[in-house]
Amino acid sequence: MANDLQRGLDSGPDHGEQFDLIVVGLGAIGSAALMHAARSGMRVLGIDRYDPPHNFGSSHAESRITRLAVGEGPQYLPFVRRSHQIWRDLEAETGQQLLHQPGGYIITPPTKTQDPRWGNFVDRTADVAARAAIPFEIRTPDQVRTHVPRIRLQGDEKIGFEPTGGIVMCERAVKLQLDLARGSGAKTVTDTPVVAIEPAHGGATVHTEQTHYWAQNVLVATGAWFSDLAPGIDAQAVTVTRQIVFWFHVDEPEDFAAEHFPFILWPGQTIAEYSAVFPIPPGGRPGLKLLGEQFVETTTAKTVDRQVKQHEVDDFYSRLVAPRLTGVNPTVAHSAVCLYTSTKDDHFLIDRHPESDQIMLASPCSGHGFKHSTALAEAMVGSLTGVAGSRDLSAFVRQ
Ligand SMILES: Cc1cc2nc3c(=O)[nH]c(=O)nc-3n(C[C@H](O)[C@H](O)[C@H](O)COP(=O)(O)OP(=O)(O)OC[C@H]3O[C@@H](n4cnc5c(N)ncnc54)[C@H](O)[C@@H]3O)c2cc1C
Repeated sequence: MANDLQRGLDSGPDHGEQFDLIVVGLGAIGSAALMHAARSGMRVLGIDRYDPPHNFGSSHAESRITRLAVGEGPQYLPFVRRSHQIWRDLEAETGQQLLHQPGGYIITPPTKTQDPRWGNFVDRTADVAARAAIPFEIRTPDQVRTHVPRIRLQGDEKIGFEPTGGIVMCERAVKLQLDLARGSGAKTVTDTPVVAIEPAHGGATVHTEQTHYWAQNVLVATGAWFSDLAPGIDAQAVTVTRQIVFWFHVDEPEDFAAEHFPFILWPGQTIAEYSAVFPIPPGGRPGLKLLGEQFVETTTAKTVDRQVKQHEVDDFYSRLVAPRLTGVNPTVAHSAVCLYTSTKDDHFLIDRHPESDQIMLASPCSGHGFKHSTALAEAMVGSLTGVAGSRDLSAFVRQ
């Protein structure tokens, strides 16, 4: 590596400290990229505007749903499969639990809906599952009521169950990946925004307000701040939306424990009627975690209102909690604002800088990226640094 590094540089001017790879943004993607690169022996630097895991981007709020039968499309399957394998390996290595797999339900209205994102999602998921031989069962409302006594169903819903579904502990994963990266020699600079990245000397120079660094390759994974450092990519390519996560008090937390309580993805006739219910992990935050989705009001990471209002709690509870679950109270133990960074078609955006193949830009969010993140990061590092056999990212390349 050192020789490659030297070949990229002119002699003379100050290029700053030099690395094989600089990772800008250390959230889901960046923490994993740093870990994979450091563990493969590269000289790596990670830079973040905060000190991850933090509450300002897209990777907080304790847990994320994960499913192998990814109704978003079969192109995602190799990544979620590999991510599970990586996280299970990290669990075995460190003794920290990252995945809980009590199974997961998808519940949709019986008729075609106006929801372009989740409409028909049981059928789309069943299709991916059948093609990849992933267990996915269609269940009757009565079967679901027996399995999950706290659920309220109309009785005519279309319901699919994936036994391998579950949750990944997102903040814990980011922290662990960063710890392991540092343990393998990665250098990190936190509470420091990168202000510019420019192709230079066969690699790229990364500028902060205080200093600059040079690397043979740069991976930019800045989530909701994606547009700030993505030259040549249409500013409208991604939009940032404010999403709210609630932890409602429950009568019997054990009824919702991750040992047996599955996640529930529960779309309705419109996007406003979507909710997701998360099992309570051991040692988790008090309360039952639920969230909805909205794409009407866009925002930015800089200007977003991070306060959750009482009327937002009341509205969500009356529309999407009380009619669907029993044993959940209208008061919240906690709430949080989290950011989706979405493309127009909800697929990921992974691209090279228009002037340099040495710089990769990645925005794998659109509200469903965490489950794929550590494998995507591994593939991005492999693709940037020419590792043979890296997983193919072409399904996500836009230009
Ligand atoms: C409410 C919610 C629910 C979700 N549910 C699911 C789910 O159930 N399942 C699932 O798979 N996915 C889910 N997702 C999506 C998933 O969480 C995201 O895809 C993933 O977290 C995105 O990771 P990221 O690395 O792109 O961004 P982030 O983790 O936000 O990381 C970006 C990092 O870049 C840093 N940064 C920004 N600008 C700069 C700069 N100029 N210089 C240095 N650093 C910078 C930030 O500080 C941040 O740490 C959900 C997302 C949200 C918000």
